[in-house]
Amino acid sequence: MATTKKPKKIGTPIDQRETFVSLQKNFADSESNTEEKLRTLYDLQKADNDIDQLVQLRGELPAEVADLEAQVASCNARIESLEQIIAQYNDNIASMNDDIVSLDGEIERYRSQLEKISNSREFDSINKELENLGILRKIDEKKIAESRDAISENKAAIENVKTKLDVLAIDLEAKNEELAAIVESTAKEEKALVQVRDGLAAKLDERTLSAYNRIRASVHNHLAVVTVFNGDSCGGCFNTVTPQRLIDVASGKKLVICEHCGRIIVANPSAE
Ligand SMILES: [Zn+2]
Repeated sequence: MATTKKPKKIGTPIDQRETFVSLQKNFADSESNTEEKLRTLYDLQKADNDIDQLVQLRGELPAEVADLEAQVASCNARIESLEQIIAQYNDNIASMNDDIVSLDGEIERYRSQLEKISNSREFDSINKELENLGILRKIDEKKIAESRDAISENKAAIENVKTKLDVLAIDLEAKNEELAAIVESTAKEEKALVQVRDGLAAKLDERTLSAYNRIRASVHNHLAVVTVFNGDSCGGCFNTVTPQRLIDVASGKKLVICEHCGRIIVANPSAE
């Protein structure tokens, strides 16, 4: 096989669906640097794993903080709505008390009329009025009692929400402190890792990098480059790797792609 020292420049634009499979020929054309490329890919994947771990470390905290903040907001909204309900009941009580005052005035008037009554028909009519007014008064009193009960219930509900709020406030403060500490402590480390990563990425040709990024983005564990797992399995999908492919992986000189998941399988440099 004719080997060229430099990989051929390919003029066609990078296919966004391109994976390592379509790069196989490109790799094979430049066997002399396949070994180096594989090593760079392995290191790149490792740097990306480290960055992912850092981001994940604080990545969950902002979501937790946001969740707590949403819970606090919802508790405050609940308290506000309960307070509005209580205010409404208080308004009702006030208006029913006014009603009772005016009913009492009418009752007083009818009673004083009753003392000056001459005929029984008028007497009956006024007594009927008094009876009706008494019923209306009782209805108002009943409504006031019901409103007071409802106010007590709503006040108890507010106390419950406030207890929950106290717990949430403590959690929120702790999470915010934790997040601030992690951001502070990891910012430097992350910056250094990104520098390493960018340096490795710059060593790879555009097509290989594109395929790497594409596979990384498409698999759940974000691993485009994996090592052999448990002696004979793909470290990405855990399917068995054929003995010939295992030999190729171990040689470190061939691009081996898992036939099940499309990831690159490389030898673990630290296991050498
Ligand atoms: Zn696989």
